[in-house]
Amino acid sequence: MVRGVALTDDEKRAGRLFRLLAQNHLVAAFDSHPPDFRVPNFLAVYRHPCPGRQMRSTALELCEVYRLSPVDGAVPAGRFGFITREGTCRSCGQTAASRAGRLVDAYVRPPIATARVIRPS
Ligand SMILES: [Zn+2]
Repeated sequence: MVRGVALTDDEKRAGRLFRLLAQNHLVAAFDSHPPDFRVPNFLAVYRHPCPGRQMRSTALELCEVYRLSPVDGAVPAGRFGFITREGTCRSCGQTAASRAGRLVDAYVRPPIATARVIRPS
């Protein structure tokens, strides 16, 4: 957790609940459609022996997926982010994704420019 100003008790509770729900959602999605490779959520590039390039070691770009927290009582939507990574190889189509995300204070650690941002429905 990236820390900025101290969180209120309400924010701490909302953050814990959001992390739990987002992590459960991620695991369910991962397990129902497992990628070819499982990657840590902090990696930007994953190298794999690529069947599309005679098994040469090839970089698979991992996009940041940034899920914003929903409104929770007095805590506004988007107070927290839950970050994971996923990507598809341009040469062979194999996929990579993380099965664990990390919770961040969205005011301190907003999405990077290239992130796919998922807003609460
Ligand atoms: Zn490949």
